[in-house]
Amino acid sequence: MYLIGLTGGIASGKSTVAQRLSELGAVGIDADRLAREVVERGTPALAAIAEEFGSDLLLPDGSLNRRALGAIIFTDPVRRERLNAITHPAVRQLTRDRVAEAAAADPHAIVVYDVPLLAEAKAGGLVTFDVIVVVHADAATRIQRMVDLRGLTREDATHRISAQASDAERLALADVVIDNTGGLDATLIQVDALWEGVLTAEADKSAASAGIRSQ
Ligand code: ATP
Repeated sequence: MYLIGLTGGIASGKSTVAQRLSELGAVGIDADRLAREVVERGTPALAAIAEEFGSDLLLPDGSLNRRALGAIIFTDPVRRERLNAITHPAVRQLTRDRVAEAAAADPHAIVVYDVPLLAEAKAGGLVTFDVIVVVHADAATRIQRMVDLRGLTREDATHRISAQASDAERLALADVVIDNTGGLDATLIQVDALWEGVLTAEADKSAASAGIRSQ
């Protein structure tokens, strides 16, 4: 098993790179999706949220009222911390479970964990990555993509970038940088080269652990 941590700023091209890696054979795990999954209707984390913040945070069908929760936590850092204390351990556990499932299904699985806020959340302690890949595109390019492809205003796009860790903070974590400032073709060439390197590294890692086991 070989675990790739994939991160990058908003609209840098993480999903584009993750998609390509899946096409090449990687198993994808998406941190944003897990964060939604742990607070689905009927989960222990959602019950804990309702107990902590009141049952009016639930919609009539028993699902989370995200709007009401957002209104509380975006204005109150203490409550935000209390929410994180409920959700973060649940996400950590689910991440470990999903990685373990992938390894059980295929001992040579290459798993890509797409974790947008790796630099902010210091999620490095969460699982040990074999390699951290940072997708990078300069701010002007990302703003333009958010304006053209997502209909954001320039101000909103700029604000979203400044709310995240800086490029320097993210790049400091990188073992490999995929530069997605140019066209898609140039990016896919880099991803394919990454994949080749990962296949070799996984084979080396498997051989090394087989060697340790046989000693
Ligand atoms: P988010 O942080 O919002 O989840 P992301 O980092 O996953 O975004 P993508 O969704 O992969 O980024 O890319 C952002 C947008 O830019 C998408 O609409 C995507 O199709 C487009 N895009 C990605 N790479 C390129 C590229 N090299 N050239 C042109 N458009 C691109």
